[in-house]
Amino acid sequence: MQIKTAEFIKGIVGSDPILSDGRAEIAFVGRSNVGKSSLINSLTKRKNLVKVSSSPGRTKEINFFLINDELYFVDLPGYGYASVSQKEQESIRERIVWYLQTDEIEDKSVVIVLDIKVGVTDFDKQVINILRELDIPYVLIANKADNVRAVDHKYAVQNIRNESRTSPMIPIVLYSSKTGLGRNELTSILLK
Ligand code: GDP
Repeated sequence: MQIKTAEFIKGIVGSDPILSDGRAEIAFVGRSNVGKSSLINSLTKRKNLVKVSSSPGRTKEINFFLINDELYFVDLPGYGYASVSQKEQESIRERIVWYLQTDEIEDKSVVIVLDIKVGVTDFDKQVINILRELDIPYVLIANKADNVRAVDHKYAVQNIRNESRTSPMIPIVLYSSKTGLGRNELTSILLK
């Protein structure tokens, strides 16, 4: 299967009818600057679907993109912007947790984007715990894999597996928007 069409629908900040319109939702979560926007653009082969490196002010919303007229990619706000106040950072984290926990969505899965050189942050661990508790399917992305030599990829993935304490059942996908590594693998996992 392929991603043929991708269209921005809307941004939300809380409960909204779009959550319960019956379409499956695949949400993307990650630290700011982890390359989440680039990853969504590369998956959908659209250069500017998600504005790369847009200012934190514009990315506090939960943005919905309709894929192939049948499911949503949901871009959750990036967390950990250095330029954002503690209070604002807290409200972004709360918004992410709210989305993960809301039971308005029938079919939800999550892509956790990690920087291959940074690994698993405390908030990533919190996200993973919530997903585990609620039995929500997820995959981990070792992103910006082009920043690590290919011979070290296996080691980096093992590190992420240990830090996140995820079972071997959970896929960890090496990804690079720069080289296209992982694009086909992730697309087939997500559209399955
Ligand atoms: P976001 O804040 O998570 O949405 O991250 P962006 O997609 O805006 O990317 C943040 C920075 O990382 C930008 O300077 C991108 O050019 C860079 N970047 C994104 N993806 C990759 C990648 O696969 N490899 C490398 N080396 N850099 C990347």
